[in-house]
Order: sequence, then C-alpha cells, then structure tokens
Amino acid sequence: TPLNTIRNFSIIAHIDHGKSTLADRLIQATGGLTDREMSEQVLDNMEIEKERGITIKAQTVRLSYKAHDGETYTLNLMDTPGHVDFAYEVSRSLAACEGALLVVDAAQGVEAQTLANVYQSIEHDHEIVPVINKIDLPAAEPEKVRAEIEDVIGIDASDAVLASAKSGIGIPDILEAIVRKIPAPKGDADAPLKAMLVDSWYDPYLGVMILVRVVDGTLRKGQQVTFMQAGTTHLIDRVGCFRPKIEQLTDLGPGEIGFITAQIKDVAQARVGDTLTDAKRPATEALPGFKEVQPVVFCGLFPVDANDFEKLRESISKLRLNDASFSFEMETSAALGFGFRCGFLGLLHLEIIQERLTREYDLDLITTAPSVVYQIELSHDGGQIDLHNPADMPDPNKIESISEPWIEAVIYVPDEYLGSILKLCQDRRGIQKNLTYVGGRAQATYELPLNEVVFDFYDRLKSLSKGYASFDYHQIGYREGDLVKMSILVNEEPVDALSMIVHRGTAETRGRGMCERLKELIPRHLFKIPIQAAIGGKVIARETISAMRKDVTAKCYGGDATRKRKLLEKQKKGKAKMREYGSVSIPQEAFIAALRMG
Ligand code: GDP
Ligand code: MG
Repeated sequence: TPLNTIRNFSIIAHIDHGKSTLADRLIQATGGLTDREMSEQVLDNMEIEKERGITIKAQTVRLSYKAHDGETYTLNLMDTPGHVDFAYEVSRSLAACEGALLVVDAAQGVEAQTLANVYQSIEHDHEIVPVINKIDLPAAEPEKVRAEIEDVIGIDASDAVLASAKSGIGIPDILEAIVRKIPAPKGDADAPLKAMLVDSWYDPYLGVMILVRVVDGTLRKGQQVTFMQAGTTHLIDRVGCFRPKIEQLTDLGPGEIGFITAQIKDVAQARVGDTLTDAKRPATEALPGFKEVQPVVFCGLFPVDANDFEKLRESISKLRLNDASFSFEMETSAALGFGFRCGFLGLLHLEIIQERLTREYDLDLITTAPSVVYQIELSHDGGQIDLHNPADMPDPNKIESISEPWIEAVIYVPDEYLGSILKLCQDRRGIQKNLTYVGGRAQATYELPLNEVVFDFYDRLKSLSKGYASFDYHQIGYREGDLVKMSILVNEEPVDALSMIVHRGTAETRGRGMCERLKELIPRHLFKIPIQAAIGGKVIARETISAMRKDVTAKCYGGDATRKRKLLEKQKKGKAKMREYGSVSIPQEAFIAALRMG
C-alpha cells in the first residue's frame, strides 16, 4: 500500500461519549460488515467490557474508503483501552497512529478523561480532529462544547464535525476529515525492518496474535523475526489484518498496521512496546518507548471451598494466557488455606480478573485487602524489601522506615461538588498542588498516597459528585510515611485477609469503620463475638456482636416441614460461602464489603 493512501488514527473520548458507537458507524459506512453483523457492537466484544462500557484490549480495524478526491484510502482505526489502569497500552496504541478523532459528548462537554487522552495524543504529535457527538440529544449544546474544546484544550475547533454516531449524522464528514487532516505515515521501505508490537492476546485457534505497526521495511510471511527486547526469534507464519473479520495478507509495509502469528505460546513473550526486526538484517536500534509493566496493586485470592484450589489454579493460568500484565504466585494463609497472591495494574484490573474468575469459571472467591507495594528499609543495614502482603510485614523493631507509592491525580468536577471532593482528598492525606476553574468546573491537582486511592476512592468520587467528577493519575515515586500494620481480630483470632497497612494518623478511623462494618456483615452466633482492630498488641477499636438467643432460632425454624427443609438447605448452601474463624462464620461478601470505606 502506498504510504500516502494510509491513515492511522485512534478515537479518544471520555467514557460513554460514543467512541465505540462511532467506530461501529465507520466500519458500517465503509462496508466492513453487513447490517446483521453490525447488530452486535464489534469493538467491545467481551461481556464484561460491555457491561462496564469500557474497552480492555485494544483492537484495530482496517477500512477501505473511497474519498471525494477519487482515491481509495486505507484507514486503520485503532481502539484504545479506556481506563487509567491501562495507560501504557494506550501510549503504545497512540504511538502507532498519526492522528486522533477527539469525540466529545455535546451534552456533557469536556471531561477529565477527554483531557488526559488529548494531552497524550498531543504528546504523540497527533493531528487532532474534533468531533462533537450526540447532537441528536435534546440537551446537546454543540456551540458551547465547541468553545469549551478551544478554551480548555486549546485546539482549533472551528471546523469540528457535528455528529450523531447513534443516528448516523456527520459520518461522511468525519471520513473526509480523516483523509484530509490526518497526515500519512512516514517510513522507509528499504531500511531494515522495524515494527512496533502494539498489543498481543491469546486466540484459542491461532495462538498468540500480535498487533504490529510497521515503521520501516517489510514484514512478510515466512520471515525470521527477532523481538529486540525479549531477545527471541520467531518464524512468522501468518500476516493479516482485521476488516474487522480476519483477512490474510502476504506482507505489511511501512505505515501499515496488522497482525502476525508466529507459533508463540505465551503472551508474556510478546510484550507491548517491543520492536520486531528482521533476524537476518536487523535494525541497530529498537524503537523508543518500551516499558516493562509492573503490577501495582496486590491481593490474595482464595477459594471459599478449599477443594476448588486446583480449579482456581487452572482458571488463573488460563486468564494469564491472555494477559501478561497480572502476576500470580501461590500463597498459603493459616486461615484461608491455599490460594494465590496476585498483582494487578490497578483496582479495575483486579476487579475484572476477579469477576471473570467468578463468572466465567464459576468460582467462589475470597479476596483479601488489596495492598500497594511498600518499600521497607530494615534497621542495622538489613537492606530493603518490597512488601506485597501485609501478612509478611517484618517485626516493627527490625524496621528502619517504610515508604509508600504516591500518585499525582487530576480531578475534574463541577463547582457545586468541589467542596466535598476537596474534603475527600484531604481525608485521604492528599496534598493540593493546583486548583483552577474553567467554565463552571474545577480542575484540582492532588498528590495522594496510592494506598488511599486503591480501595474506593473512585467510587466515593463518583457518588459525592453524582457521577460528574472524573479523575486520572500517574505514579510519582515513593515517600516515607508513618505506616503501621493494622490487624483485625474476630473472636480474638486475627483474620489475616483483613489486615492492612495504614497510616498511623488514619488508623483509628479506619479501624473503627472496619469494626462497625464487620458488625453489620457478620451474622449473629449463639455466643457473643468481639471484633477488634489492633496495632501490635494495642486494640484501637472494638465492637461486639451480641449473642443470638436460642429460643429465637427455635422459633424461626418452626412452622411447616417444607419451609423448615428449605431453610436448612438454604443455610447449607450459604455455609459453603462462609469461612470459619475461631468458630465464627464470616460470609464471603463481608471480606470485600468490609474494605469499602464508609
Ligand atoms: P464509549 O464508552 O465512548 O465507547 O461510548 P459508547 O459508544 O459505548 O456509547 C455510550 C452510550 O452513548 C451508548 O448508550 C450509546 O448508545 C450512546 N451514544 C453514542 N453515540 C450517541 C449519539 O450520537 N447520540 C445518542 N443519543 N447516544 C449516543
Ligand atoms: Mg467503548
């Protein structure tokens, strides 16, 4: 394909502004799929993605578009993940493009994710084509949004396309704008091969599929290709593109985006950002921007039923086939038995994996308190350790200092909710760095300990602002803090799944909240149950669940025989979802619910 007929672009938008709907429209308009095939949204194809309305894995579609100038163009539309947890993947997808469609909801206007994405896009030197979507909505204010794009983002929006992805308005204009405004890729067909690995995933029929963007040279079927970061060489056995159905090709030239397979068994060998080059005529330098992704949030996953351990191992291994960014290793806990310590890119990533294990693999799981990675400096030059699990905390006497990861967060919120959001940040030990107002909205920049954010910060932010606030963050390094391990004791027994590392200043509040919630969550027993939060041997909060009176139980099991049997069955079933702690049964839900701050 001649370079000047290629256009590579992504769509950037705040969640729900219409990215997927627009992508589908573009596919439909260029004849990629029949109407019937379009009836399903194509680009968000996983069930969970659909429910949460986010895209987890990037996908690319090749479109053929005959423009008004008579030329037929190859448009590569790259869909990018829409969540902060996947920022690195997004950056590689953007690096594979020359431009972006900036989709802004005509009723909602510019939001935090719009801004964060557009700045990234500008960093990648993209030509940005603004699209004001949802103009069919009664609440649409396209002119206000046009001004907002210019004021807030600072790009020319005078010729922004007014569109409705839903009803198909403006689609031809968008296609023309892509061809006219987004530059053609540059590349040297005669130079040694350099192709960027944009994404990889596991396909049960084809094995590991690799999405690439060729920068220089040509990628051919039958070629021996070296992965420069991984240091491995593989024989390319398939080359193709998605239209969005798979189409096999013989090669991919400079500027082109497509997929390859090379009989690779494990996605961990095909790392996002790696450079592919010809084994016989290698490039001297890899492409810039490669980064090793590291999990930042860790938690334990344990089967409720100990007999499910093997099933859990198999399921986790299967999920890992498709996602090299989460880690797992076996963990044993006195109370929970055998399970896995898993690492994730963020809390959403954790929830996605946990949900898939529960839903797709039908496992009942106990998730322990998520934790970030702490750096512990041991006294007497004992060296430094990375602590992933509060249960492994060394004896406080042997600790010189503890450091925790910090983030910089940018929060975007309508003025009316600002007060409560600022308070939330303050309660979470936030340090305000900046506060600006643009057209009835505030933009607050805060430094926050990651630990204070991973639990429920996002949920709180959303509920305090009726869904209007949004935020984005990146890590800014480790800082020393007055951090201690807080244990939770149920009936005098420590429940290690609930122990966590907290800042001493917030320990009491947290401990009290935790005890209060557990009091609600743990059913009454025939005896009195003390619930305590403690630091070292010192109890800092305490609640008591009073005993259930015997005659009450007798009464509620009275009545007719079928009802009694049903109740017993229900109870038996319920029991499978409980864990015993010093003869106290704790329901599965309690573990997660207890961690949500009140
Ligand atoms: P994404 O999160 O950016 O991918 O957004 P989606 O494409 O999934 O759209 C989010 C919601 O907005 C869906 O319910 C769409 O049907 C709806 N939507 C998308 N485009 C339009 C539009 O032009 N007009 C209206 N009224 N709704 C739209
Ligand atoms: Mg989407």
